[in-house]
Amino acid sequence: MNSASAIELNVLSANDYKSDYKPVWCPGCGDFGVLNAVAKALAALELAPENTAMVAGIGCSSRLAAYVNAYGLHGVHGRALPVATGLKVARPDLTVIAAGGDGDGFSIGGNHFLHACRRNVDFTYLVMDNSVYGMTKGQASPTTECDWTGSKLSPTGTHQPALKPLELALTAGAPFIARAFSNAPNELARIIAEAIAFPGFAFVQILSPCITYRPEQLAWKKRIHADLEPTADRREAMLTLLDDDGFGTGILYRAERSSWRGEHFNTIEPAQLAQAFEVNA
Ligand code: SF4
Repeated sequence: MNSASAIELNVLSANDYKSDYKPVWCPGCGDFGVLNAVAKALAALELAPENTAMVAGIGCSSRLAAYVNAYGLHGVHGRALPVATGLKVARPDLTVIAAGGDGDGFSIGGNHFLHACRRNVDFTYLVMDNSVYGMTKGQASPTTECDWTGSKLSPTGTHQPALKPLELALTAGAPFIARAFSNAPNELARIIAEAIAFPGFAFVQILSPCITYRPEQLAWKKRIHADLEPTADRREAMLTLLDDDGFGTGILYRAERSSWRGEHFNTIEPAQLAQAFEVNA
């Protein structure tokens, strides 16, 4: 960061990290809390908006990219992670944050999630998890409880076990894993800031109620217990998860692991690439 940027950054407040677009989320949606916490974390870290990029997929929560004052891409369903990976490898000077929901990230983008965890490129992934596809009017997602009967598409439940994102991240090799709650603003902002500052792939599952299609999630507030303690011991983290009720918040796992960088491979200039793929008529 140069000194001119530092002077400029001193005047930025959390509100400066929100764009001029007004969120179109339903009033009371948990994603408002996530936007506030992201803005607070970016301000606390004094990150310059011009050096920060947010990449998102499709869904209610993926709109976050438009609402944050930074470079943003609201892209294709489930594909935030490969875009974020490519961006960080090509521009390691940028702070890259990927964001999305449980359907976007664990269904359509599930394969990318596994490989982002094991690849460990240095960016943050925020998943706003409400166990439902909100934007398409309330279908079951990969994290929906098997006995949820609220969707006309699965009126007797899904009859499939809900995916457990933290377990998945741990087994796939993610070096930073946390869970937070959208309605706990200070803890959420702190965890997001720690995830962004972490030198590697940092995954944060954010329980973020969908008050429109899962109004019963308003009761999550009473079930949250902020008692996850960070460990660098995978076994210990897995044992914690085996007893987990899905509502413990905090940093679960934080371990040193060498991050994957572009210099691990030979650089190919764009002109060389174009030549390699040239098609002769
Ligand atoms: Fe939020 Fe649900 Fe409304 Fe989407 S449908 S904006 S997730 S409350």
